[in-house]
Amino acid sequence: MVSRVIPVENFDLVIFGGTGDLARRKILPGLFRRYCAGQIPENAQIIGAARSDEGDEGFRKIVGDAIREFGGGRHCEDGTLDNFLERILYVRVDAMGDDGWLELKDRLRSDVVKAFYFSVGPSLFGALAERLRGFGLADDDSRVVVEKPFGHDLETARALNKTLAQHFDEHQIYRIDHYLGKETVQNLMAVRFGNMLFEPLWNAQYVDHIQITVAETVDVGGRGGYYDKSGAMRDMVQNHLMQLLCLIAMEPPARFEPDAVRDEKLKVIRALDPVDYHHIARGQYSADEHQPGYRAHVGDPRSKTESFVALKCHISNWRWAGTPFYLRTGKKLRGRGSEIAVVFKDAPHSIFGDEAGRHSNVLAIRLQPDEGMTLDVTIKEPGPGGMRLLDVPLDMSFAEALGDDADEVPDAYERLIMDVIRGNQTLFMRGDEVEAAWAWTDPIIEGWNRRGEVPKPYDAGSSGPEDALMLMHRDGRKWREIKA
Ligand code: NAD
Repeated sequence: MVSRVIPVENFDLVIFGGTGDLARRKILPGLFRRYCAGQIPENAQIIGAARSDEGDEGFRKIVGDAIREFGGGRHCEDGTLDNFLERILYVRVDAMGDDGWLELKDRLRSDVVKAFYFSVGPSLFGALAERLRGFGLADDDSRVVVEKPFGHDLETARALNKTLAQHFDEHQIYRIDHYLGKETVQNLMAVRFGNMLFEPLWNAQYVDHIQITVAETVDVGGRGGYYDKSGAMRDMVQNHLMQLLCLIAMEPPARFEPDAVRDEKLKVIRALDPVDYHHIARGQYSADEHQPGYRAHVGDPRSKTESFVALKCHISNWRWAGTPFYLRTGKKLRGRGSEIAVVFKDAPHSIFGDEAGRHSNVLAIRLQPDEGMTLDVTIKEPGPGGMRLLDVPLDMSFAEALGDDADEVPDAYERLIMDVIRGNQTLFMRGDEVEAAWAWTDPIIEGWNRRGEVPKPYDAGSSGPEDALMLMHRDGRKWREIKA
């Protein structure tokens, strides 16, 4: 059912930072899965470029090990990995210096699509862009893929956009937010714009509120130093949650084409009201007898960075005026899961009387785990005893619906890399979108800094700080449960 694979054009893909964590965990295994699916041409080249001295054979070993550790294609035939590894090359390159660039240039072919993946820290993006042009590796059709974080605030994001724009046109720049590559996120657009059922109800008249939750059970791990300089607002809300908010709230684009979709997303961000600071809850996970807390993890006993944030925001346009959007994300919570819930209003009048109970329909879109959708529908509680109402979920798990084929649905990185080769920017952020998102985020963070606000502690394994519960409670609403 799923596997209609359309092979992409022949390409040379250079992965700067090819030996790094992201390349080993996501990019290279993802490419291998696409190779197994028959999407990657036999003579495509994937070239690792990083600072260490690996050589082709050394890098092939790294790639093989990464694929074995982080998952290759389940339906791959024997020998496919060896064939794939023949596509792999390596050049030692210094992003900040001149070493390796001419050798890399020699390995690129002139008659194929050329893509350059910047899987390195953001401080190197400018240097890479400059050298790709300076040494003549990139042409006007080449693509560059830029990882998050895209800037630290509006000023740095603008500077980065400006630097990239000196060397590449906007149509060549692919800013990755891997949330946009998730199957369910695209399904969200299919559900909204492919059905008559929901769109007439998709507005302030029928929707009571919308909740977006991205909950993690993990702590800051080895990224403590980086994380403490960003926090949940910068690391998650400004990009991932904002993108989900855009897709749920945007007007139907005229076509499913890059600029048509991105224009509509941008309008949503620009219509967001500034957030009242009473409508924000910030938290930091605390230590308990089993484990250290956030401050120990980041090595700063006085850190004021949040590992959790929840907020209420409003979109001032005709469709959404008066409908609150509640966003929440955090680390060390009781469960791992990403979900968007559209909570519809109660029926205006209950013909069954108060004792039957009042219920509202909820459309919940699960991004992880177990991607799928649930629609809570109110029915009569079975059996005698009068009319009592009950919510039953109409549950669609993609894994169940697709059966064995579910394993072959490309993951977010696989899909996005293939989109780069195809030259399709629909699922990538445009420069103005990123800047608009920072323009909304910056005043929130500046407000915390100005007031010297300290995040409230919350227990590891909980649903976040009490303030987050109160944020909903004050409005007579409640968060959906984060399942353990
Ligand atoms: P990493 O530290 O594991 O790897 C960095 C890579 O960059 C290495 O291959 C290293 O050799 C190379 N490098 C460093 N300096 C260089 C130089 N001067 N010249 C050439 N190569 C150089 O980092 P990572 O975790 O793979 O992250 C890479 C980027 O992806 C970062 O921007 C990060 O924020 C982003 N990112 C990572 C993840 C993840 O899960 N790791 C997730 C999302 C975004």
